[in-house]
Amino acid sequence: MSSQPVFSQPEEAGFLPIAQLSLLVTKLMALGYRCLGPTVENGAIVMRELDAPDGLPRGLQAAQAPGRYQLTRDPLNRYFAWANGPQAIKPLAFSPEESLWRVERDAAGALQFAPVLPATPAQAIIGVRACDLAALALQDAHFLQEGRRDAHYAQRREQLFLVAVQCAEPGATCFCASTGDGPTPTVGYDLALTELAEGFVTLAGTVKGQEVLNALGLAPATPQQIEAARQQGQTAAASQTRSLPSRNLRDALMSRLEHPRWDEVATRCLACGNCTAVCPTCFCHAESDVPALDGQASQHVRMWDSCFGESHGHLHGFNVRPDIRSRYRQWLTHKLATWHDQYGRSGCVGCGRCIAWCPAEIDLTEEVAALTRSEVKP
Ligand code: SF4
Ligand code: SF4
Repeated sequence: MSSQPVFSQPEEAGFLPIAQLSLLVTKLMALGYRCLGPTVENGAIVMRELDAPDGLPRGLQAAQAPGRYQLTRDPLNRYFAWANGPQAIKPLAFSPEESLWRVERDAAGALQFAPVLPATPAQAIIGVRACDLAALALQDAHFLQEGRRDAHYAQRREQLFLVAVQCAEPGATCFCASTGDGPTPTVGYDLALTELAEGFVTLAGTVKGQEVLNALGLAPATPQQIEAARQQGQTAAASQTRSLPSRNLRDALMSRLEHPRWDEVATRCLACGNCTAVCPTCFCHAESDVPALDGQASQHVRMWDSCFGESHGHLHGFNVRPDIRSRYRQWLTHKLATWHDQYGRSGCVGCGRCIAWCPAEIDLTEEVAALTRSEVKP
């Protein structure tokens, strides 16, 4: 974890002038953090290691719509005007592919088992969104359950230092205001920045964050700057055009398991699994053993998996989800309905990634609206 939460109040915020953003990165690097920030790769924004303290790009935006993600220029040349990219923090804590343990024969021919734990540097991620923080809290709830703590996840997670930013301009696919997870970061960060024209209103959320904030020696943010930051968050929330009708759709969806809309969406869905790959809360995975060619050792490997895959529904002798209708229904009802039974809230943080990255332009907010507006019941 990122040390104890202390969440400083807005009136305790510091103000980081725009020209001094690199000072924050310099400080984090000096503390031994590998610093990751937004980087353009294959036409999208991803988090990659920064070469230098002044390596954060300016003026990037991402236009998003169902099945569409396109980088554009921000006319205001801000650092964090882009809403999000195809991946949140998930791959940095829950690795897409890793060995969990290995087994090999010793000189006497006996099998020796040993865990394979990842080498994890301390990593600071700059540009984390409120929805990403909410998604990470859900991943924590899954992987760090008492009695079932996942050592690989825990080791990476403990090394993260999270610098969150308020979304000034949510993407057209975002609906975090309706899920209650954004666009202003309120929990889960070490530091939180709100970008204004002249600089950043900066708050600490943990002891570690407060130490970095103190070390920066910032002037206090003025009441006008704090008010501008608050208003920017409100305006961003009000600008979102998509929404879910409720934060708890459990009964509404579970009472419509035979709704004809599941058949309709199944004719469009390609079962490609893009939505689960980009979703920051999906945690399904598959495990397999990869033997060495000489037969003397084997790795037990975990890889991300998707409930849209045909093999994901295999039980002994039959498949519980043999068609796309049942797989789409499983995904949506787990995410928005039965997640409440497991983790006490919905599994959707409103990031909109599954909408932008769906090649069939399927929009879960539209599907939920269609499923819940009619009175068709089982
Ligand atoms: S909903 Fe879209 S992204 Fe998800 S499996 Fe179907 S086609 Fe792929
Ligand atoms: S279901 Fe879609 S909108 Fe919700 S958290 Fe996952 S990717 Fe984001």
